Order: sequence, then structure tokens, then C-alpha cells
Amino acid sequence: MSYVGPDFDAPEPRRPRRGPLMIAAAALVPAALLGWLVYEAVADSGGTPASATPRTGPSSAADSPADDGKLTGSPAAAGAASLKGKVVLVDPGHNPGNFRHTTEINRKVDIGTNRKECDTTGTSTNSGYTEAQFTLDVARRLRTILEQQGATVKFTQDGDRAWGPCVDERAHIGNAAHADAAISIHADGAAQGDRGFHVILPASMHQGSADTRPIVGPSRALGTRIRDGFNHVTGSPLSNYLGKGTGLVVRSDLGGLNLSTVPKVFIECGNMRDSKDAALLTSGAWRQKAAQGISEGIVSFLRG
Ligand code: ZN
Repeated sequence: MSYVGPDFDAPEPRRPRRGPLMIAAAALVPAALLGWLVYEAVADSGGTPASATPRTGPSSAADSPADDGKLTGSPAAAGAASLKGKVVLVDPGHNPGNFRHTTEINRKVDIGTNRKECDTTGTSTNSGYTEAQFTLDVARRLRTILEQQGATVKFTQDGDRAWGPCVDERAHIGNAAHADAAISIHADGAAQGDRGFHVILPASMHQGSADTRPIVGPSRALGTRIRDGFNHVTGSPLSNYLGKGTGLVVRSDLGGLNLSTVPKVFIECGNMRDSKDAALLTSGAWRQKAAQGISEGIVSFLRG
């Protein structure tokens, strides 16, 4: 083999001084060390706190130490190839700072069918947990899950701006990113007793700067998958007050949908003003399930 050169031959003269036992012991040390390192790597990999991504099987952990010894066999890395090249636009509804910028968010913008407020403050639970806090938290959890599977995730805002963006800009960000799927995350503010979640789909329209005709079909497919994934993972019921029991509602009054040129839906994850739904929405464990459910729908859609 080419690596056996003069440099490797240099220690040769010392060999005769070693007895057979020395040589055997010298051979055993690296083997034992390697075995221990492999054991440690596998044990560490298995002991990592559970990720939101399902493990792909026992082979992933066993394979990783042999790759490069950097614990690349985590569940995240195991599924990394599946969504490579896919772009997902995640739109956390509203902005925690909107209520301090009423002038800016009340400014009217063109949503194709008409002009409408730039954005709104969103709702909150009766105890003051705001929709904007909720949407950002679920969005970040969703981003982690999707990125673990190899997707590129774009946000419309990440708590990194004082207010907004406006609904038209939220659509334009997804369009500019050429997103393969776009999801706007919200929670509703309806009456006590109104419970469950629903997914909002764009209506077909061609008016002003809005032309949703190309995205109505794929958006319905995306929305149906998200409804099923969300229902499956969270166990939350389909809305009992909108959508006639289907969990799907078609709307033509939302600029974020009207102006989209990529498949896009909204999800209203629950009713913040209902005490039972609010108990779910304020739970971090439940929000993790919500993110997982949304991701299942998106992944199902992207994989066709
Ligand atoms: Zn909202």
C-alpha cells in the first residue's frame, strides 16, 4: 500500500527489543481504546434527550461513530436528506410589538380585492397570553423540526422587528423565497365553548393584484395534509364553530392568502378565549405537539 513508506519503517530497529508479550499488549491497547470510544459514542447518541423527529431505526446510531466520530447519527442527521432543497415559509401571525405601533399596523395596504389594515394585534387568552407569543413559539418549534429534516425554513418575522410585517409583505416574502409550502400560524379569539382548530384555504380569485387560481389546488392539498397531521398528533378536535365539521374554511378576505403565488394556508390552532382550548395553547408540551402535527402535514405534502 502506498502509505507504507520510509517514515513508517523508521521504528523497525526497535522491534527486536520487544518481547512477544509487549507486542501483544501494544496491539490490544488501541483495540480496547477504539472499542471504548465506539461504546461511548453509541451511548451518548442514545442518551441524547429525545428529539421531536422520530428515530429512523437502530442502525442510525450504530453507524454514526464509524462515519466521523462526531455523533452525526442523531435523529436529525438521519432524516436530513429527505427535505433537502425544499423551502418552507413559516409566518408567525401578528407580532408581539404590534400593540405599541397602532398607527403603523392600522395603515391600509392593498390585498388584491380591497384595502385592509397592515396587520392586527391578534387575540390573547383571558389570562393575557398573547396570540403573537403563541404563534412565534410554535413557529420556532416547527422550524427546528423541519430543519432537522433538511428543509430550508424562512420566517416572515422572528421577534426581530418592532411590528408587522404587513400582510401583503408576509405574502411577498413567501413568494420571493419561491417557497414550496407556506404556513401562517394563528390562534383564534372566538366565544367560550367554541373549540378546536381549523385550516384556512385561499378562495379562487383573480382581482386586482390577486390571482390565486394557480395555488388553490395545491393549497387545498397542503391544508388537508396539515389538518390531518395536526389532528393526528395533537388529538385536538376539528372546529365545532367553523368549517361544518371539516376543519377546513375557504376565505377570500385575507391578504396573506390573496397575494400568495405559492401554496399557502393559515391554521387557527385553537380558540384562545375558550378555557379548555386555552389550557392547551398555554402548554409548551402541547405547542410542541402542534408544531409536530403541522410539520407532519407539510412533510406529507412536500413528499407528494
Ligand atoms: Zn391571528
